[in-house]
Amino acid sequence: MARTGQDGSRGISAFILEKGMEGLSFGPNEQKMGWRAQPTRQVIMENVRVPKENLLGEPGQGFKIAMSGLDGGRLNIGACSLGGGQSALEKAIDYMGERQAFGTELSAFQALRFEVAEMQTKLEAARSLLWRAANAYDAGDPNTSLLSAMAKLTATDSGFDVANRALQLHGGYGYLTEYGIEKLVRDLRVHQILEGTNEIMRVIISRKSTGVG
Ligand SMILES: Cc1cc2nc3c(=O)[nH]c(=O)nc-3n(C[C@H](O)[C@H](O)[C@H](O)COP(=O)(O)OP(=O)(O)OC[C@H]3O[C@@H](n4cnc5c(N)ncnc54)[C@H](O)[C@@H]3O)c2cc1C
Repeated sequence: MARTGQDGSRGISAFILEKGMEGLSFGPNEQKMGWRAQPTRQVIMENVRVPKENLLGEPGQGFKIAMSGLDGGRLNIGACSLGGGQSALEKAIDYMGERQAFGTELSAFQALRFEVAEMQTKLEAARSLLWRAANAYDAGDPNTSLLSAMAKLTATDSGFDVANRALQLHGGYGYLTEYGIEKLVRDLRVHQILEGTNEIMRVIISRKSTGVG
């Protein structure tokens, strides 16, 4: 995306850059807390000259093109959070059936059973909202951006919270790599930052709900 015109979103155009173009380079692979299976590098553009055939859409449509990609991206990230949270919950339920503390199975402690009830409910609420937003996306509903922001906020906060609680339910073993829970916690954390941070989701939701801002 580059500014080709007036200030504001209508002055931005989208272009396709191809690997090997002069001035286009990539930074080193970043060292990250999670998402270590996916390489992350900076894309560096220094005086890249782009032929006009590489313009995507019409001049001034760049911001609109970027935003249309983000609605789908937010649903994808929300779905990844839901899957990660569900996997962590299932691991926790299995563990609670195996582990005994003070002569009692963890799954018999009411305080821990209530944890499971809350985790399950949070994931189900996130799943329902994601489905609703995905249906809106498929139908071209004008509320798609609002619903996608709500779904991303809910699913990524819930997915991380559930994985973190699942780690706690594993006690000290949750902190060890062997059980796979700490990896889920590290991987899901970035979903609250990517595809627009969850603060920006609140900005979008409040703007679309109040018509102000
Ligand atoms: C692993 C990884 C992979 C990534 N991959 C990509 C990629 O493929 N493509 C890509 O384009 N980007 C990618 N990013 C970048 C990512 O999209 C940004 O980091 C993210 O959108 C946040 O932007 P920022 O880092 O500039 O934070 P900033 O905008 O500097 O925000 C800092 C803090 O201030 C808050 N904040 C900022 N503005 C407001 C406001 N108006 N109101 C309230 N709070 C506000 C933010 O929520 C945040 O908490 C990636 C990042 C990571 C970590």
